[in-house]
Amino acid sequence: MRVLVIEDDPNLNRQLGSALDSAGYVVESAVDGEHGHFLGETADFDAVILDLGLPAMSGIDVLRKWRAAGRAMPVLILTARDLWSDKVAGIDAGADDYLAKPFHMAELLARVRALIRRSAGRADPVLVSGAIRFDTRSGTVLCGDAPVILTTFEQRLLQFLMHRTGQIVPRSEIIEHIYAQDFDRDSNTVEVFIRRLRLKLGADAIETVRGQGYRMPHGDSGGRDGARQAERGAIGHD
Ligand code: CA
Repeated sequence: MRVLVIEDDPNLNRQLGSALDSAGYVVESAVDGEHGHFLGETADFDAVILDLGLPAMSGIDVLRKWRAAGRAMPVLILTARDLWSDKVAGIDAGADDYLAKPFHMAELLARVRALIRRSAGRADPVLVSGAIRFDTRSGTVLCGDAPVILTTFEQRLLQFLMHRTGQIVPRSEIIEHIYAQDFDRDSNTVEVFIRRLRLKLGADAIETVRGQGYRMPHGDSGGRDGARQAERGAIGHD
């Protein structure tokens, strides 16, 4: 999941970046409206955190321009405390949610999770595919009743696939959403991570759709191998 942070206060920008990074998101950040607008226009993000008071272009203008250009990603605006008119202007400009400064980082993370869930059309914070359950609040993964330990990257990939359970997810979209921009996108690491996830979750947990991408099935066929594997204690730590 990729999140764009546009905040001109360098300390807050850094804090947001590190909290989101620790929560498993790929974070891109900008400290002015123009650069932020450019990033949001040219790359796909699963959510955006947008401060309204920004140099070069205001947050409201950034948001209006995106929406006018058909950019539909969920946007959480950060407003100054007590400026109710900012909230109204932000929501009118197309914001999906707002948070007044100062805020608690835990609340911001909860709102980002909710935004991503809602935009994926799911209200439940637990993603399910067959016997696999991914709790987006805690990042824990269960295969049957057995906990599965995943690396940050494996977790990112699994979460992205499970937000779209039942749908084919093209490889190019996976690369776009789980790697930071400077990543070498020619490498075949997606296949490597898919293989590792199958080892931990079961061979049928993730289907390969030839020439199109990957899919996690709705039904309960996926993941049973993994449950058995986890029961035997073969939980990976790499
Ligand atoms: Ca500001």
